[in-house]
Amino acid sequence: MADPALLLRGGRVVDPAQGLDAPLDVRVRDGRIDAVGTALDAAGCEVLDVTGLLVTPGLIDAHVHCFHGLGTNALHPDVPGVSRGVTTVVDAGSAGHSSFALFRDHVMAQSKTRVLAYVNLSTVGSVVSPHFSRLADPRLIDPEGIAATAAANPDRVVGIKIMATRSAVGAAGLEPIRRGRAIADDVNLPLLIHIGESWGEGEPLPVEAIVELLRPGDTVTHMYTGHRGGLLDQSGRLVPAVREARARGVRFDVGHGLNNLSFDVAQRLLDQDFPPDAVSTDLSHMSVRGPGYDLTTTMSKLLGFGLSRSDVVALATSQAAALLGRGNELGSLAVGRVADVSVLRLEEQEWTALDSRREQMTVRQQLVPVLAVRAGEVIHPRPSDRP
Ligand SMILES: [Zn+2]
Repeated sequence: MADPALLLRGGRVVDPAQGLDAPLDVRVRDGRIDAVGTALDAAGCEVLDVTGLLVTPGLIDAHVHCFHGLGTNALHPDVPGVSRGVTTVVDAGSAGHSSFALFRDHVMAQSKTRVLAYVNLSTVGSVVSPHFSRLADPRLIDPEGIAATAAANPDRVVGIKIMATRSAVGAAGLEPIRRGRAIADDVNLPLLIHIGESWGEGEPLPVEAIVELLRPGDTVTHMYTGHRGGLLDQSGRLVPAVREARARGVRFDVGHGLNNLSFDVAQRLLDQDFPPDAVSTDLSHMSVRGPGYDLTTTMSKLLGFGLSRSDVVALATSQAAALLGRGNELGSLAVGRVADVSVLRLEEQEWTALDSRREQMTVRQQLVPVLAVRAGEVIHPRPSDRP
């Protein structure tokens, strides 16, 4: 069943991938971007008046937990996804290779939101709370299983997720991360590294030693964590090895979550010229009712730090797509691309943002989803979980 052609008329198109920030119409036909321009012909189109709204490439949340039905933390993909204006979500290692086919057939295939995923280095994935990834037991790292899953799901798998925390690796220390490095090299996929010791068990792994194992294209998530094992040293300075890692092409993502956004740490790192490469929520049942809520709320917190509107949109579109190795498919409204579009309202209104420690920040603007277009289908948002 073909959706009718659609014309989004009168909005302000913000598409950093194409250098666009201007009042333009967007026309969608057969699930693809058909034209972007002024006063486009509406013949045969359903016309939506989006005057006064922002029209962006479909937003990408590069870190969520959406293996719906697995454990108690996972959300249905459409909760962080299209029902909050986000067209692509990326699950960060909920599935190990042993459950990836289940995830694909029963969750990814059943959601309107596009779902990509990092496969967990641990065979069992995050069956329960994330710190149970069981990397301490070498039998739960299976290179052949990961390679087979990556080979069978090239359209879905974007990398390998490693919990680089003492709670996950125990006495094995850095050894599981070294094994993950070797597997990633063998299958030619990047790593996604979780930092931050949210659970306080034992000595944190030294972040210098972790980033030394990373290569161009790998990503560190929870860059602004206030927990031990973060990117700042004791005196609040960025660890030099981290800056060197970025200089050679390692990426850094927000990964807000229940535990891992500290406004204080973010401000210190931004003051030391260390902005994010992507913005993501790490949304799960633990954070969807606060402090994370949704991607546009997390984006709005970055506006509160003074990042520009176009920079924040880039973090959730072109830059996120590049980080996922999908820059040629996602994150732009270029003609011929799949018609994933987000329509947002930028409200000029003070609100009080909370970080993972319930610290407050007064923010003067907020982005609110108005609708999502996913492969040409228009989807209206559910109400926000924010009070
Ligand atoms: Zn996570």
